[in-house]
Amino acid sequence: MIIRPPGFRGAAFTTSLAGDMRRGDRSAVSGEAGIRSEWATLRQLHGAAVVEVDRPGAAGEGDALVTGRRGLPLAVFTADCAGVVIETAGAVAVVHAGWRGLAAGVVTAAVRYLQLQLKGEVMRAAMGPAIGPCCFEVGEEVAELFPGHEASTTWKAPSVDLGGAARAQAPEASWWSVGSCTRCGEGWFSHRGDGAASRMAAIGWMP
Ligand SMILES: [Zn+2]
Repeated sequence: MIIRPPGFRGAAFTTSLAGDMRRGDRSAVSGEAGIRSEWATLRQLHGAAVVEVDRPGAAGEGDALVTGRRGLPLAVFTADCAGVVIETAGAVAVVHAGWRGLAAGVVTAAVRYLQLQLKGEVMRAAMGPAIGPCCFEVGEEVAELFPGHEASTTWKAPSVDLGGAARAQAPEASWWSVGSCTRCGEGWFSHRGDGAASRMAAIGWMP
C-alpha cells in the first residue's frame, strides 16, 4: 500500500489501495511504514506557506511542513498534485506541489526554510505520483508560467511538466521520483481523471 523511495531515511507515498488518507484510517499505512498513526497535516491552499511543527495534528494553513523532531510524521494529501519529501541531515520537509503552489515557489520556500531556519543542506528529494505532462492540460496562460517546462498532452494540448518544475526548484537535491502519471497510470487517485475525492499521502519523517 506504500512506496518507499530507496536510500531515503523516512519517506513514503501511498497508492489508491491504501484508501483515502485525508479522511480515512491511517493505521495500516502507519504500521507498514513503522511510524505513529498521528500525523501533522495542513489545510492545503495551493500556496507557498511553510509551517514548522513539533507535534502531530492539524497545523493550520499552508502547503509545506517541516520538522527537526524525531518520530513525527508529516503528511500532505494529493490526487494529481505532486507530494515531495525533502531530507537534510537534521530535518525533513513535505510539500504539496501543484501548479499554483509551484508558480508561487513552494518547493523553493521549503528548501530555503530548511537551509536558513534549520541550518541544513538539502541532500535528497523524492516525488510521489503526479499528473504527467501526458495528461496535464492547461491554458496557455498557465503554461507560460513554467518556461522550460511546457509540454504537450498525448492529445496535443498545452501542458506543464510539474515534476520538472518541482525539480528545478531544488537543483541541489538528489531527486527520486515514482514516475507515474496519476491520470493515465494505474493505482492512483486522480482528481482530473475521475473527480476523485479521495487523496493519497506523501509522508516524511525523521526516524
Ligand atoms: Zn498521463
